[in-house]
Amino acid sequence: MNEESETDLHPVRVRFAPSPTGYLHLGGARTALYNWLWAKKCGGVFILRVEDTDLERSTQDSVEEILEGLRWLGLDWDEGPNFQTQNLDKHKEAAFKLLREGQAYRCFCSKENLDTQRKEAEAKKTAFMYDGRCRKLTQEEVQHNLDQGMSSVVRFKVTRDECPLIAFEDSAYGRIEKRARDIEDFVILRSDQTPLYILSNAVDDSLDRISHVIRGADGLANTPKQILIYNALGIKPPIFAHMPLTLDNKKAKLSKRVHGEVVTISYYRRRGFLPWALCNFLALLGWSSQDGKEFFSREELIEAFDLSRINRHNSIFNYVPGDSKNWTDPKAIHFNATYVRTMPLDELVPYVKSELESNGLWSQVYETSQKEWFLAVIDLIRSRYHVVTDFSSKGRFCFSNNYEFDPKAVKKNLCQDLKLAEYLPELAQELTMLPNFDIEKIEDVFRSFAEKKQVKAGLLINAARTAVSGSSVGPGLFELLAILGKDRVVQRLNDSVGLITVND
Ligand code: GLU
Repeated sequence: MNEESETDLHPVRVRFAPSPTGYLHLGGARTALYNWLWAKKCGGVFILRVEDTDLERSTQDSVEEILEGLRWLGLDWDEGPNFQTQNLDKHKEAAFKLLREGQAYRCFCSKENLDTQRKEAEAKKTAFMYDGRCRKLTQEEVQHNLDQGMSSVVRFKVTRDECPLIAFEDSAYGRIEKRARDIEDFVILRSDQTPLYILSNAVDDSLDRISHVIRGADGLANTPKQILIYNALGIKPPIFAHMPLTLDNKKAKLSKRVHGEVVTISYYRRRGFLPWALCNFLALLGWSSQDGKEFFSREELIEAFDLSRINRHNSIFNYVPGDSKNWTDPKAIHFNATYVRTMPLDELVPYVKSELESNGLWSQVYETSQKEWFLAVIDLIRSRYHVVTDFSSKGRFCFSNNYEFDPKAVKKNLCQDLKLAEYLPELAQELTMLPNFDIEKIEDVFRSFAEKKQVKAGLLINAARTAVSGSSVGPGLFELLAILGKDRVVQRLNDSVGLITVND
């Protein structure tokens, strides 16, 4: 199916249908993102449906975590959240309709009976498939069993004569075929009258008038059965687009149990990710643009996104547990860092503001009298940062005099020459004399001081960097000093003398 005919299907209505049994997983967020993109691209509607029919495992905390994660990612929905349990009666009704029409039947086989059939199949080394023996019961027999109070389930009657193939065109995987004879008469209503998920999901998709089901490849196995349900209910099935699974680099499925927090969206928020950077990374985990472009604004991604370019092969999330440098897939970090370093400052500042606020580093003047200074600082220090939390940790020295000194930097840069205990206050004194504390003048002072003392300028530069920032790395020193301002620099150069001790 080509893109034109897909987008022609109006109105486009898609849904994200998480089961609230845990956290919002990277894979779930990617599913939500693809649905959101498709809705936006087609001018369609994005529905949030919480599939909460597993009463034992669904929790309110999980619902909240999912909603919060979607809101943070900016994946706003147009309808919902709808809760699947609200439609249980309609799912049941659909099962009864099928039963009345002879497209489903009551099965009275007991658990023991089915277990025996299963064991027989095992002994013959064949896959177990319910043999459909209750199909043959007459109306009278069924009524008799019901009158006897026998418990029963409702099974879907899978066609056994014509239509040997259930086929559909998956927008991502292409044509998928399944032989009807390989599908057993599956249960759609349990003996306690509760519908099975496979039925609820299909009925809700029809009630929500879903045009495209975009979901993980683990849904592929259900699709032929769901197509049978649609056909039996006289409803046109939606278009399906299944997305490849995301695996770790050892080809294992991503799970919190095995991989920990790194698979949850809330973790990225806590670690200082920018929501759009994460969306951009997730978009490429299973989809690629025609021209190989990787960085997209929202509008660009909506424009470029296309179901037919969803990959068929599994995508790999390159996470190596215990790698202290790369706490998540290095590509994700690279994406976030690129956004932090290059996005328009006015878009970055709200994130930095809230980060500084949570760490007691924010001052109102950064939005008023010191706004220009604040923007210049952010622009200077962001060139080496990866995540928003870097602004309050590595960048703390810009917003507070109470910053930490990296012991290695102190040892390497301040304690390498005891003479620095004399040089730094002298240098501070010379800087005090500067009428204009600008980059060039500061550099001149450093260079001539080095010449005067017959030492390498690097010795002074490194020492000053550690004195004013506590670190051995950072942006150009003279720019940094100019931005920190004379008073702070002089004070810190003088104070750092106390850190200069004999190296052991
Ligand atoms: N609740 C299902 C899940 O979380 C949704 C499957 C679907 O999108 O159809 O896997």
